[in-house]
Amino acid sequence: MATDRGAQSQSSEVLHLAADKARRYVRDVAEQRVGPSEAAVAALAEFNEPFPLLPSNPCDVIARLDEIGSAATVATTGGRYFGFVNGGMVPAALAANWLAAAWNQNAALRVMSPIAAELEEVVVRWVCEALGLPPECAGGLVTCATMANFTALATARYALLARAGWDVTADGMFGAPPIEIVVGAQVHASILKALSLAGFGRKRITIVEADGQGRMRADKLPRLSERAIVCIQAGNVNTGAFDPAEEICHVAAEQGAWVHVDGAFGLWARISHKYEHLTRGFEKADSWATDAHKWPNVGYDSGLAIVRDGVALRASMGITAAYLEPGSRREPMHHTPEASRRARGVELWAALKSLGRSGLCALIERTCAHAQRFAQGLRKAGFEVLNDVVINQVLVSFSRPEVTREVIRRVQEDGTCWCGGTVWQGETAMRISVSSWATTETDVERSLQAIVRIAGECRTM
Ligand SMILES: *Cc1c(COP(=O)(O)O)cnc(C)c1O
Repeated sequence: MATDRGAQSQSSEVLHLAADKARRYVRDVAEQRVGPSEAAVAALAEFNEPFPLLPSNPCDVIARLDEIGSAATVATTGGRYFGFVNGGMVPAALAANWLAAAWNQNAALRVMSPIAAELEEVVVRWVCEALGLPPECAGGLVTCATMANFTALATARYALLARAGWDVTADGMFGAPPIEIVVGAQVHASILKALSLAGFGRKRITIVEADGQGRMRADKLPRLSERAIVCIQAGNVNTGAFDPAEEICHVAAEQGAWVHVDGAFGLWARISHKYEHLTRGFEKADSWATDAHKWPNVGYDSGLAIVRDGVALRASMGITAAYLEPGSRREPMHHTPEASRRARGVELWAALKSLGRSGLCALIERTCAHAQRFAQGLRKAGFEVLNDVVINQVLVSFSRPEVTREVIRRVQEDGTCWCGGTVWQGETAMRISVSSWATTETDVERSLQAIVRIAGECRTM
């Protein structure tokens, strides 16, 4: 039998080993170089072997994974990673992930996993509370904001066409009444991808002018109709700027249009009263996409699609109408594109339970304060900060594009911290995104020193 003593002790032994390796990684990550060394990346070639003919001892498998693999990670869970708006992972989320992995629950249906279904229901409600969204909202737990954007836009498509007497789930998009898509000039690429997946051509969209911070200009909106979807954003990926949701939602509501919010990270600023002036009006939209693996530091992968009209969400994502009987309890798979999937609500629950409202608010405010310190330190050293630092994003230019690119390359190679590059309104910039709970003031000072030193060295280029 598979559960005899030998198998049990082997299982216990390999879990101990993995836990030891993981604990060591977590302990050392703060002092590890942030980007892996060239040698560590080159060593990955050792994995490139033919498919083994014979089994290996699981402990040897894990030991090898740690030996070659851990050194080739990017230390995104440490305090000095500032790339791509990637968050870290709070301890409760990591620990819950271990336990949930042991459970190996399929979160598709309540009958497959009561615990997964229960926690999903709880976290969708908590996230709506944290983000100040209407309590009647329904939501699905997906991999990422791209999928969350897709889920919400597919639901908008269903709802707007249903109003026009067209059942898109039955009759598809060919011959359907046209829907107008409106986006801002600084729309995130994931919205364009989601739109194309949902059958809206990337070219068949109306682009509204943006201002100097990337905010959609409400005064430039075209005439809308009850068959328009307006995609706005809470937190531009470069500047962190927020579209004027209050004005846009007001106009859209008058003209019957659907408003979708891409709030991958910025939406979480709504938990802090400090940012009230930026985040006003987003609660008036019809759907929202966000990531828990960014600012809330839940770990990968954790996106959420939230829709005001839960009936429309279930009608577009439900697998058959028979599952949609009123009064039956929430079934996870009728809220997402996926059926079988892992129980990602477990980590989200653990992170939110361990942080609480005040902890999440403190995380948001602390990282924004770190971004201010970066901006101040860089300006003081004579470099140009290109954006209004309103939340956690800083764009800095080190003069000519080739100099800025060289600074970025050397910062990454140096390993003290990690920042990526971007092009903001024609200017090459380095982007600093402070998104981790683990970042301390010391991390910020060490990183600033490294950046200023390297940029100084590149000045003579
Ligand atoms: C990061 C981001 C996305 C995409 O997020 P994924 O989780 O990688 O799919 C979408 N929109 C905005 C504004 C983002 O910052």
